[in-house]
Amino acid sequence: MTVDKKKKTIKTININVDLCNGCRACEVICSAFHSEPKYSSNNPARSRIRVIRDPLRDIYVPVYAGEYSEAECAGRDKYTIDGKEYDECSFCRASCPSRDDFKEPDSGLPLKCDMCEGEEEPLCVKWCLVDALTLEEREEEGEEEEKREELEIGLESLADKYGLDKIIDTINRMSKK
Ligand code: SF4
Ligand code: SF4
Repeated sequence: MTVDKKKKTIKTININVDLCNGCRACEVICSAFHSEPKYSSNNPARSRIRVIRDPLRDIYVPVYAGEYSEAECAGRDKYTIDGKEYDECSFCRASCPSRDDFKEPDSGLPLKCDMCEGEEEPLCVKWCLVDALTLEEREEEGEEEEKREELEIGLESLADKYGLDKIIDTINRMSKK
């Protein structure tokens, strides 16, 4: 089968929790960029990136919003990394019924990071002055695939039914219209 694959750019935000100081500049710029009209207000509750903060335990985890989940997950995990214990939902990106993060405060509609569509660089990355957030871009083969084989099979069966000459005549007629 002949398959043409298109390249697409995958953007990922790498998060270094050791560098995050909890300043929340990322939340401010994200909510301001997505306000209507743009930059008319800022409200971290509307941000698509939230910083889980626990200064007493020196815990700062920036998490940006992923997919919406209708149901809470059944089992949750606690993580201990470098002697720090992270709460169950700390690293989760879902907008789900168990917490208020990643929900538009007025409507309750789920929020999802759109990588600041239209901007050259995600704004939270740009505004994070300590480089706790960095952008990674990689090229991947896309899902858009032209399945030429299907077209060939279709043409072959038409040619079997009506004869190749008739098909070519028809195409010629159509192209002259
Ligand atoms: S802007 Fe950077 S340092 Fe500040 S809270 Fe966000 S990720 Fe952490
Ligand atoms: S990339 Fe843009 S939309 Fe996504 S969390 Fe950062 S500022 Fe918000």
